[in-house]
Amino acid sequence: MGIKVAKFGGTSLADAEQIRKTKGIIDADPDRRYIVASAPGMRYDDDSKVTDLLYLLSSHIEQHAPYGQILDLIKERFLELESGLGVDAQIEGEFRDFEAMLKVGVTSDYIASRGEYFNAKILAAYLGYKFVDAADFVLFGDKGRFLMEETNNALKVALRKYERAVVPGFYGTLPNGGIKTFSRGGSDITGSIVARAVGADVYENWTDVSGFLMADPRIVDSPKAIDTLSYKELRELSYMGAKVLHENAIYPVRLAGIPVNIRNTNDPGSPGTMITAGEHVREGRIVTGIAGSKDFTVIAIYKNMMSAEIGYIKRVLNILDDYDVSLEHIPSGVDTISLVIASKYLDGKLEDIVDDIEKKTRADSVDVYEDMALIATVGYGMAMRPGVSAKLFGTLYEAGINIRMIDQGSSEMNIIVGVANSDFENAIRSIYKAFVG
Ligand code: ADP
Ligand code: ASP
Ligand code: MG
Repeated sequence: MGIKVAKFGGTSLADAEQIRKTKGIIDADPDRRYIVASAPGMRYDDDSKVTDLLYLLSSHIEQHAPYGQILDLIKERFLELESGLGVDAQIEGEFRDFEAMLKVGVTSDYIASRGEYFNAKILAAYLGYKFVDAADFVLFGDKGRFLMEETNNALKVALRKYERAVVPGFYGTLPNGGIKTFSRGGSDITGSIVARAVGADVYENWTDVSGFLMADPRIVDSPKAIDTLSYKELRELSYMGAKVLHENAIYPVRLAGIPVNIRNTNDPGSPGTMITAGEHVREGRIVTGIAGSKDFTVIAIYKNMMSAEIGYIKRVLNILDDYDVSLEHIPSGVDTISLVIASKYLDGKLEDIVDDIEKKTRADSVDVYEDMALIATVGYGMAMRPGVSAKLFGTLYEAGINIRMIDQGSSEMNIIVGVANSDFENAIRSIYKAFVG
């Protein structure tokens, strides 16, 4: 018997009907033996994700505001699942324990993790699979760093004992026993960790779209699906904003050479996207995909003879370090460098940082562009191909979009442009139209 790890996202487990579909998919292939569950997602437009409700609950508790109603709403979602599926996962009892814990005082990570915990309990009961708590095997270090090898070793031993199991996604444990979550969307990482630990033949990631699409379907109308993708292309696209798979989910499976298959729970007949190590330029296809995100700040620094000044860039980076600010990209020219930083890291610090750069590095000029969006156009060999950049820039020019920054970096497989936040969607649609049609 082969081994497939199947991770089901929030929409695949949002209500009893979706969970029935999920069971249908699992039962259709006996190799689907290890299942990773997310918290229940949205059932319809404007519905709440359980994880969002849990964070809301946590902030109410933090601010000493009444939280009974939110807690009831969350409990209701799980009781509905339990009764809708006709299983007994002891949700009433679980919530009694949860309420008691809330009174004692728990962290927001603990609260957020319960969406996956309760949902995995229900799914395990419904499938008749063993529930294996991620808290016992997914391990973080003192400073909250994920311990990949320790986790792999612990999980390998734990899962070997069961032919079939359900593992909750998104969280693990700190050395002090407290719960720690990955960042949002982190159940994808748990799926990848489980796939590596059991030596899966494939890591299936079941969601609500028929694979990785060439652009965000909320921006481009019915974008084409990508049938095959390399780990590297995936990493570029997910890091730049295509959050269909968490940007860090790739590491464990890549280490073990396990392919990832993105599939659609609502269209299980579709083959979805296969992601493997294979790297190649594809005939007739220049662009693999387009991804991006908003809300960056660019600090553009000009200094005459900058390139001749040893240690200049290091001094600039030290200033960012002083303010504990991390950097996204550093496009550079002969006498210029730009610092591209997610705006959220600069709250209340921007003026001081600019001041320090001007004074401590004696820059000739420092210009700041706020409210910027970054868009990456990704494809093998793309940046080297004659005419590709010209086409990209020409398209944006024709659409009346001002390019504020270009980063062709060292990677031959992407070209990144910076545009105003307000041009973001329009720019993505224009690039898509120019390269895909
Ligand atoms: P899940 O809850 O199953 O983990 P997510 O909401 O995290 O699902 O990810 C799937 C969503 O990602 C899709 O519904 C889609 O709106 C969005 N998305 C953004 N960019 C892309 C892309 N390039 N391809 C596919 N989906 C994308
Ligand atoms: N439920 C968590 C979130 O919404 C993790 C996940 O769905 O992957 O971020
Ligand atoms: Mg997700």
